[in-house]
Amino acid sequence: RIIRADRLNGLELSEIVRISEKAAYLRKQGKDVVALSTGEPDFPTPDFVIDAAMVAARSGATRYTPTAGTIELRSAVAAEHGRQPGEVVISSGAKQVLSNAIFATVNPGDEVVIPAPFWTSYADMVRIAGGVPVIVKCGVEQGFKLRPEQLQSTLTERSKWLLLNSPSNPTGAIYSAKEFSGLAEVLRGHPAIGVISDEIYAHLSYKQFTSFLAAAPDLADRTLIVSGVSKAWAMTGWRIGWGVGPTNLIKAIIDVQGQSTSGTCSISQAAALAALEGDRTLLTKRCDIYCKRRDHVVAKLNAIPGITCTVPDGAFYVFPTCPFDDGEFCAQLLEDVGVAVVPGRAFGMPGHFRLSFAYSDANLDAGISRMARFFEGYQ
Ligand code: PLP
Repeated sequence: RIIRADRLNGLELSEIVRISEKAAYLRKQGKDVVALSTGEPDFPTPDFVIDAAMVAARSGATRYTPTAGTIELRSAVAAEHGRQPGEVVISSGAKQVLSNAIFATVNPGDEVVIPAPFWTSYADMVRIAGGVPVIVKCGVEQGFKLRPEQLQSTLTERSKWLLLNSPSNPTGAIYSAKEFSGLAEVLRGHPAIGVISDEIYAHLSYKQFTSFLAAAPDLADRTLIVSGVSKAWAMTGWRIGWGVGPTNLIKAIIDVQGQSTSGTCSISQAAALAALEGDRTLLTKRCDIYCKRRDHVVAKLNAIPGITCTVPDGAFYVFPTCPFDDGEFCAQLLEDVGVAVVPGRAFGMPGHFRLSFAYSDANLDAGISRMARFFEGYQ
């Protein structure tokens, strides 16, 4: 009998996955389920990207690529971020960039500061690496964003990373240049701490987006920018993400990657290259559609007595307040009226739930109307 390693203690299946599985199970039982739980665009991958992948597969791009990614894609990503190809690594999604980076740098006992609410995987990645996630509560009253004084009082000698995410999953909050500058000022007094800035939703912004490095270029030698094609280009299944950072950090990530996946899919890399080099009008059009859905969803949720929903600035999630036990409420909502949303506790912030608006208007309307009726009976 194989026994799980101690380092997996406390690790559980992500609540998002659990809810999606439950929704799929209920659907199989014949129940009419409206899932508003997944962070995945409902749009298809653009045709020109699929065409590029077909051409690549037919013309021999079917072999191992360099571990760090093809030079063509690394160069395109470097150009996108105003950097050199040697400062770029391509991995199997932004998620693998994050886990590689943490695995490559976090020693047992090292602390990683994570403002809550946070994307569910961050804390568990740190735990698997033997590190300690230090969760800092950043509630709705502060726009779900970390304040400089909070950062200052959280840093210790063991602090290794500050993990930022803008636009945020689950809140859609975007840090302004001024807000990033305030955090950078604190970091300047702590030269040993680095910043991982997860900017996977950068192209899904409904107000001015600022990269952390645009606000603090002097911190480039200790900052890793994480991004990719999954969300904006609707390419979640292709598994392409990238990290941009100082060469010594990129080298460490490549070393880890070399002993795990040997690099990511050759055909997907060709597709991602086409995405980056292609016309972006489709992205703008889709962003406009998300923005309209956002306004519609926020208005509908705020019309439910007891729910307060702030307007997200980016990504495709809303994170309204939930006046009940959020875990029980979400479980009951799914069970009774077949609507799947994710409780705030999965993101380190109970008292909320996350609803994804990467769904059709019809699904959003049906889901929120059912929720409104359910809410009335629940009180
Ligand atoms: N970072 C955040 C904040 C996300 O929400 C997600 C996906 O949900 C990822 C990273 C992972 O992206 P990818 O699918 O490229 O691995």
